[in-house]
Amino acid sequence: MADGPVLALDIGGTKLAAGLVDTTGRLLASERTETPATLDAEGLWSTLVALAGRVADLDEVAGVGVGCGGPMRWPDGRVSPLNIPSWRDFPLADRLRDLVPHVPVRVHNDAVAFAVGEHWRGAGRGASNVLGMVVSTGVGGGIVSGGRLVDGSSGNAGHIGHVVVDPDGPACTCGGRGCLEAIARGPAVVRWAMEEGWRPGSRQAATGRHLTADAQRGHPVATAALARAGEAIGIALASVTHLLDLEVVAVGGGLSQAGRLLFDPIETAFRRHARMQFARDVRVVPAALGQEAGIIGAGALVVAPDDRYWSAG
Ligand SMILES: [Zn+2]
Repeated sequence: MADGPVLALDIGGTKLAAGLVDTTGRLLASERTETPATLDAEGLWSTLVALAGRVADLDEVAGVGVGCGGPMRWPDGRVSPLNIPSWRDFPLADRLRDLVPHVPVRVHNDAVAFAVGEHWRGAGRGASNVLGMVVSTGVGGGIVSGGRLVDGSSGNAGHIGHVVVDPDGPACTCGGRGCLEAIARGPAVVRWAMEEGWRPGSRQAATGRHLTADAQRGHPVATAALARAGEAIGIALASVTHLLDLEVVAVGGGLSQAGRLLFDPIETAFRRHARMQFARDVRVVPAALGQEAGIIGAGALVVAPDDRYWSAG
């Protein structure tokens, strides 16, 4: 594990973020920019390097931790983010090792980094058994069990978005049917609402943010769309909490900004389906770190004590 501040990178299809994270999980500096959509692989890499240089002297950092959109080859750190078409099998970890030699470089899924951040310094702080999940353009997550990150055999543990909540439900981008993500991802919630007659205001795009704003004003279809997503999340969490014997589930991502309009239906469905007492003891709460969870979690991959978030050596 690194013994001083580390460079942390959060790489998604919408935003790139860089930060400097110290050994206690404090964010000493951070910068973010929109992910350039038109650049080729090298152009995007150059953008990332420039962003990193704005938060840290790269000769001084004690390690590099990265949360990046999946899929990827883990732990090799060759990434093919679904929402970044110019990077296919891009050797991100190797390029970072060339850029910042002689320090540990660790790349993991961005939803995993989010969960790690929420466990280390967010809503799951102090608990040993935590699920962190992101409900956004997709639905992802990461699992901390017994105080350590669970990677699974290929680094893909935590994909709660593809837990089946309705076998007869809508088709999912993974090729399956009725996955949580197929119902609760932001674009699916918006699409359902539009099929039921909801329309965004004039000159507004149909986004989860506008849907949430309308629900907060009492629009019945917008409210029902969030309730439907919340119910699906609650059903998935009932299964997952029985399986993993969790203490805390931290829910973040854009759709979680809906607050009680999402969390009340989550709780109702969860209580309906989670019947064993140990499962009912779980606290399902909003994530605490906001946009910083992913970047703090990325740093934690290399700087947290005991390598608790990295098992790959
Ligand atoms: Zn799926």
